[in-house]
Amino acid sequence: MERIYADVIIDLSVKNVDRAFQYRIPEHLRPSVTVGTQVTVPFGKGDTLRKGTVVGLSAIPSLEPEKLKEISSLLPGAVSVDSQMLALAWWMKDRYGSTMSQALKTVLPVKTKVTVRKERTIVAQTDREELSGLLAEAEKKNHKARARLLRALLENGRLPYRLAAQKLGTTMAVLRPFLEKHVMSLQTEDEGLWGRKPDGTGETELKGQSSQETEKLFLTGEQKQAVQKFLSDYEAGICKTYLLYGITGSGKTEVYMELISRVLEDGKQAIVLIPEISLTFQTVMRFYRRFGNRVGILNSRLSAGERYEQSMRAANGDISIMIGPRSALFAPFPNLGLIIIDEEHETAYQSETAPRYDAREVAGVRASMNHASLVLGSATPSVESFYRAGKGDYELLTLTRRAKSGSRLAGVHVVDLREELAEGNRSIFSRKLQELLRDRLDKKEQTMLFMNRRGYSSFVSCRSCGAAIKCPHCDVSLTFHRNGRLKCHYCGFERPMPDRCPVCGSPFLAPFGTGTQKLEEITKNLFPHARVLRMDGDTTAKKGAHEEILQAFYEGEADILIGTQMIVKGHDFPRVTLVGVMAADLSLYTPDFKSAERTFELLTQASGRAGRGALSGDVVIQTYTPDHFAVSSAAEQDYGQFYRQELLYRQIMKYPPAVGLLSIQLSSRNERLLGEAADTVLKEIRKRFFLEGPEVIGPAEQAPYKVNDIYRKILYIKHENYDILLQIGKSVLESELLRQKYRNVSAQYDLM
Ligand code: ADP
Ligand code: ZN
Ligand code: ZN
Repeated sequence: MERIYADVIIDLSVKNVDRAFQYRIPEHLRPSVTVGTQVTVPFGKGDTLRKGTVVGLSAIPSLEPEKLKEISSLLPGAVSVDSQMLALAWWMKDRYGSTMSQALKTVLPVKTKVTVRKERTIVAQTDREELSGLLAEAEKKNHKARARLLRALLENGRLPYRLAAQKLGTTMAVLRPFLEKHVMSLQTEDEGLWGRKPDGTGETELKGQSSQETEKLFLTGEQKQAVQKFLSDYEAGICKTYLLYGITGSGKTEVYMELISRVLEDGKQAIVLIPEISLTFQTVMRFYRRFGNRVGILNSRLSAGERYEQSMRAANGDISIMIGPRSALFAPFPNLGLIIIDEEHETAYQSETAPRYDAREVAGVRASMNHASLVLGSATPSVESFYRAGKGDYELLTLTRRAKSGSRLAGVHVVDLREELAEGNRSIFSRKLQELLRDRLDKKEQTMLFMNRRGYSSFVSCRSCGAAIKCPHCDVSLTFHRNGRLKCHYCGFERPMPDRCPVCGSPFLAPFGTGTQKLEEITKNLFPHARVLRMDGDTTAKKGAHEEILQAFYEGEADILIGTQMIVKGHDFPRVTLVGVMAADLSLYTPDFKSAERTFELLTQASGRAGRGALSGDVVIQTYTPDHFAVSSAAEQDYGQFYRQELLYRQIMKYPPAVGLLSIQLSSRNERLLGEAADTVLKEIRKRFFLEGPEVIGPAEQAPYKVNDIYRKILYIKHENYDILLQIGKSVLESELLRQKYRNVSAQYDLM
């Protein structure tokens, strides 16, 4: 039967039109209409012409055929959307409860007029001596951008211009003098410019440079084993999800590149997701050195035009590897063979705008649609992923040792802050940390000081015993509010600030949270000769600031880098030999069942920063709770120990992955309506799903309760069966009450 009816999504982001409408395809258009075709159709009362996208074709009409309207025309010049991407959008809309229009916007690049340019490459035209001389000169004159370019060129021999512009601040003004003096040239990419050997390994030798730096590494035994496992599946045509669990510095990136080069040999493409914060110049260059200009980069800085250009380059075969944050997942590769998600535990893989998708989950769907493999990598895998590996859903690959010979894990010192106080040290620097920091300053080695503060609000803790004030009903600490009251964001429990510590009776209670700014001040007072850099939400608000700070530290412009968790993610600073965690407990008491997991992860990642180079390192973890398993297993760098304890806790407390957890978030400008709607939703769930007996918690105020004048409430529903939870989530979104009486209340859900 001929499929002459088309399901069309009208390109509007309004709740009520968020569905497909069926149209008849007029005969003359039938050969050209496929899934993904963009069309104009008459819509609504006045039959206004609207743009739409075909998402499905069928032979059977949904109404009496006479009642169906006809497609008016095909959009001129419109690129036909890859039907797979469309199917992916459908899946996302369904799974995350967004509108189709929102899902499409996530999956498809915003179309703009672009000319897809060839990549240009900066190539050194002289020898090391002259470049070194120029570098010394640029440094003397404090020409930072020039020095940066010269240094990178000395290290790499050639650089993609696009990357240098983005990450090193190489503007044309910086480059021009070098071009004029023929010290460098700017070449347009053609095959072989990157000197790729047939096996895909890079060779980017600079005149007079020893080939030592660019030589292909011999994989370690563990790396080989991981690669071999993947290859034996791959050659047999088996596509799976792998969890590559490898300690920091164990050579995961090297393994990724090995897998990619195999997939590329078959003419397939690969996507590499890396959290934006870890997408540094050094990381990206490693891929360029190996794969040359077959690499494309996405990041949030790109304009819509640049993003579209990258998409086009992916679609037309100019590039075969797309590296980027979450959104790189939607690179329109025609023959995708492999998706890699590095640092898979990162919360950045969870979208915060609708559709609130989990990139790991969507990657799984996209991979299976393409018969591609998926590799999740981490030094601290998320509890869910490790759980799945344990059940056999994922294949576990492990790297237990650092890859570089001579590079060892740092020595970890746990300092009990209660003892420090008892022995008269009131400073936020323990004596051990002060001693080691002095030593590093003497040796001209670098230190990172890390304040692992998360979230917006702080908790209250006792300065004498370190106890945080907790909710009597939940295993979370209470949040301190400006009005002086303490609240639980899980169940809504509330109490005034107590006079004394409920554990030890001490009157010294205070909202915790010395900021990084304060820490900088104290550090400068204590070590007046040290050069200090600070990196946090404030200092990186400006575009490009975060790269600049990291680059400056990398280049040795400071002795101490102070920062929030953004400094511990994946950066490789060979001269850092000391890492100080100022207060390990800070992330332990956030109102979230994942607080122990986050703490373990932050502490482990922080510890992994020390001693990355040839020098050995130390880590000082200052804490009030040295015995908490998240702290002690991080100090021992023992993921297995942490995982077993944490899973037990999740099982007892009934949190994911032990059970499914659905959260329903309701929000409205009208506080009263919101309260009513939340109660109604609760009643409806109890009534409709009485037989399934889900455990419902709440409604409670979300933290923070009011954002941009919108009030927010949340309900948690626990059940073993994910399908039932998904059904509950959808029933809430589709409920008549929310569409009518409470149409000013919006609802969304998350299923973990
Ligand atoms: P991870 O991604 O697990 O943190 P990387 O891939 O960044 O680890 O490797 C850490 C360091 O070890 C890098 O400097 C890398 O060049 C080096 N390295 C990786 N594999 C090898 C190997 N087989 N032989 C020598 N050095 C290696
Ligand atoms: Zn106390
Ligand atoms: Zn509570």
